[in-house]
Amino acid sequence: MSDGFVALTKCFYCGGPGDILLNRRPQHPSSVVRQAHGAVINMEPCNECKANMKLGIILIGVDDAKSDPGWNKQRIPNPYRSGLYVVVREEAFRRMIGESPARDYALQHRWMFIDEEAVTALRLREAVEQNNATGT
Ligand SMILES: [Zn+2]
Repeated sequence: MSDGFVALTKCFYCGGPGDILLNRRPQHPSSVVRQAHGAVINMEPCNECKANMKLGIILIGVDDAKSDPGWNKQRIPNPYRSGLYVVVREEAFRRMIGESPARDYALQHRWMFIDEEAVTALRLREAVEQNNATGT
């Protein structure tokens, strides 16, 4: 729980520690700072995710059926996450995902949500087990 003066946010991509947020008015606890603690407040990757985005494309497993309707229309999309987080080299990603606007987006922004059905179809978990270097 934040005291309203310092908050540690959560990384959108991996859920790990994100930014440290400081209240710039030291005499007043800030509810914005308090609510930001442990929360995802923007789409900025943490240092680890930033490094992963240089290595490849981050794939984040989601389960559409368990997600709230309209999750993809929110400012910070928040679908139900299955727990899968893998980094796939760009060449492998291009082989894996057919040409589509979603693929173009992923190549540009270096990440994408991937539905559990596709995770199963692509045998992504098996691929991660065989090559731990790309897992987390
Ligand atoms: Zn991260």
